[in-house]
Amino acid sequence: MMDTVMELQDVWKIYRMGEFDVPALQGIDLAIEASEFVAITGPSGCGKSTMLNMIGCMDVPTRGKVLLEDRNISEFSGNELARIRGKKIGFVFQTFNLYPTLTTIANIQLPMRIHEFPESDIEEASKKLLAIVGLTERGSHFPSQLSGGQQQRIAIARALATGPSILLADEPTGNLDTKAGSEIMDVFKRLNSEGLTIVMITHDMKIAEYAGRVVKMLDGRIVGKT
Ligand code: ADP
Ligand code: MG
Repeated sequence: MMDTVMELQDVWKIYRMGEFDVPALQGIDLAIEASEFVAITGPSGCGKSTMLNMIGCMDVPTRGKVLLEDRNISEFSGNELARIRGKKIGFVFQTFNLYPTLTTIANIQLPMRIHEFPESDIEEASKKLLAIVGLTERGSHFPSQLSGGQQQRIAIARALATGPSILLADEPTGNLDTKAGSEIMDVFKRLNSEGLTIVMITHDMKIAEYAGRVVKMLDGRIVGKT
């Protein structure tokens, strides 16, 4: 028996652009099981980010259902959903999005402060997270003092700070060279082998190969699964 973390059932997303409807998602059915590592691939504009935003409860579908641990997210109030999203879902972006004026360790601690974790836990947990991404020595550095690959590792540690049940990554290696990209994939591989559920967008097939399953998209639809 597998546990389903996230499920999209016949999900449609139609953006209204003035006179026109842009059907970004056209009937997506996808279940993400616990401890899976899934890559989503497809050409630019096919709906990958829109789908990941649905999985991450960042957006609501025009039609269809999004289930988080078997509960329809439309049952939650806006506040409840924001809290659940902040705690249960970790997000990593192509551009890292670290706060430039905070040290790396303060960046990692920020989500725990927002979610009012006990101050006594925050110090220890953030040091652990730094070690997990192999940057113990860099806690007092500022993001601009790190390489792109190191900044992305800090962003991963920050995404894990609240103990999410799923990590979502939108082109996490898109701004990195091959070597730094494969180091990020080594981190993902290790986290996944320890049980973390990961869904990652990439249009690099070499990067997609690190995942246990590849979902291919075209024109707002899933066209292939391996
Ligand atoms: P991908 O991540 O695969 O490049 P996106 O999910 O970003 O694709 O976009 C899918 C389609 O939806 C594209 O045609 C894009 O222009 C459109 N789209 C995305 N976001 C918006 C938005 N906020 N408003 C209007 N159209 C959008
Ligand atoms: Mg995108």
